[in-house]
Amino acid sequence: MDFNDEIINIIEQFEYDIYVVNRDAHYKCVCVDYNNGDAIPSCDKCLGTGYKIKIKKIKGVGQWTGIPNAAPSAGRFSDDTSKGRRYYTRAKYNIKEEDIIVDNLEPFIIMSEKMFKSFSGEDVYRLALGYELKNDSHAFIANFRKIVGV
Ligand SMILES: [Zn+2]
Repeated sequence: MDFNDEIINIIEQFEYDIYVVNRDAHYKCVCVDYNNGDAIPSCDKCLGTGYKIKIKKIKGVGQWTGIPNAAPSAGRFSDDTSKGRRYYTRAKYNIKEEDIIVDNLEPFIIMSEKMFKSFSGEDVYRLALGYELKNDSHAFIANFRKIVGV
């Protein structure tokens, strides 16, 4: 059994339901200010992301982790007290940078993600690193609950 198989075993054993909010970077939301490019945090169409979104229920294994200091874009969404969370998911789920994972009604903005491949080059699993979404997370979660019905 190689290392990838062990990770897949862990994912299969411990994965639980989470949501991923995928942003479609091709379509800006109507709430985006054309002068400064900012979205309205309380927007219930884009959840404050500024883009068209799709919300999917997926499965993953989450684990608390530290936040690396060199996190250039984290300040837009988070602050010094934000916690980090690592997610291991099966390869079939689509998670990109700046998508948002909602885990037990807590939002985490994805700052990096990496697909791990087998020796023969097939996608096996993905590791995504998220930071606790601090700024305007209340408006985000309220709108999220309205859309998803949870
Ligand atoms: Zn919007």
